[in-house]
Amino acid sequence: MQDLNYMRRTPNESLCLEYIMNNQNLSRADLSALTGLTKATISVIVKKLIEDHLVIETGIGESSNVGGRKPIILQYNGKAGLSISIDVGYNYVNALLTYLDGEEVQFIQKKPITLNEATIKKYFSEIFSTFQQALPKTNYGVIGVVIAVHGPVYDGEIIFTPHYDLDQIPFRKIAEELSNYPVYLENEANLSALGEYMYTADSSSLISINMHSGIGAGIVQDGVLQVGSHGFAGEIGHQIVVINGEKCRCGNHGCLEMYAANKVCFEKFAKIKSMDYVNAIILREYYQNNDADALAVTQENVNYLSVGINNIIAHYDPEIIVLNSSLYREIPEMIQQLKTILQNRFSNKVSVRNSLLNEKATLLGGLVLNLQHFLDIKQLKLPQLDIKKASTT
Ligand SMILES: [Zn+2]
Repeated sequence: MQDLNYMRRTPNESLCLEYIMNNQNLSRADLSALTGLTKATISVIVKKLIEDHLVIETGIGESSNVGGRKPIILQYNGKAGLSISIDVGYNYVNALLTYLDGEEVQFIQKKPITLNEATIKKYFSEIFSTFQQALPKTNYGVIGVVIAVHGPVYDGEIIFTPHYDLDQIPFRKIAEELSNYPVYLENEANLSALGEYMYTADSSSLISINMHSGIGAGIVQDGVLQVGSHGFAGEIGHQIVVINGEKCRCGNHGCLEMYAANKVCFEKFAKIKSMDYVNAIILREYYQNNDADALAVTQENVNYLSVGINNIIAHYDPEIIVLNSSLYREIPEMIQQLKTILQNRFSNKVSVRNSLLNEKATLLGGLVLNLQHFLDIKQLKLPQLDIKKASTT
């Protein structure tokens, strides 16, 4: 594996880099004022960051006083390397190769597919070889691979995967052997929250809720992901909303995701209509035609989800809740229904909206995690990404 330990930074280097990455158009004098470090120290640090290709001088700013020397503006060099993210869903694998500022180089989607150890090896191998052929020349090459799994992860290890039988699969080992890059595992909803925070939120307090076959959330407070003491923070799909309710794979009864997951809504509607398959687009057509069954199953989904969201707000009091769900994306009226229910005294201040990144939220969160490892920076907020390009068309 390539040795990236030489990239370890001193705390002051990381601090300066964080300021340069999270702001645009800073000068050395600005950095000195922001960090409290002397101009001489800043000068040495910036020289090192420029030598390491992480910072570039991009031009001349305005002088602060008449006749004063105009400062040189510093910017993060988002083209110094590349990042790979792979999202392993229950019937799909999405993979994204980006520059270090989030600009997309290549996106691969394999869907619908059956996942087991053999097919994961096959798909990972195809993804790495396709990316290898598309790899632009950069200073650092690929800085790492982040794999998103749909289940809780703690300290880089999968705890369990309730919606697919993949918790025994050595994802990291497989990816390391195939790619020779550093590999990190993280929960997909946690990564989504990092992606949403980094690229779409003008707040440092955000909860991102991902709804597929289950329901999970990522919690960002003060710009930092909260994973809890055992990796279970944000496992909101397993809050109990019905006492002695339906049995969940986590071992409890009456968990939220047994009532409000997208899959539950689709299956319920398919059963009522005797259909083999329902997805958000099919359900939307019925909904738009005011089909009574479509209106009923979506309202039921909203009712249960509102209980879950109400509980989250009571615990975390975030500024923004982002929903990443094909159901709420295709039927945005459901967001309005949700907001109508969430009108009590403590929930009416929270902004609830659909994701702007959709399925790329998790993948872009992977970039954030890769950068955090590569640069030793805890809080990242890059302003440069073109959201239209990042959102799935
Ligand atoms: Zn459960």
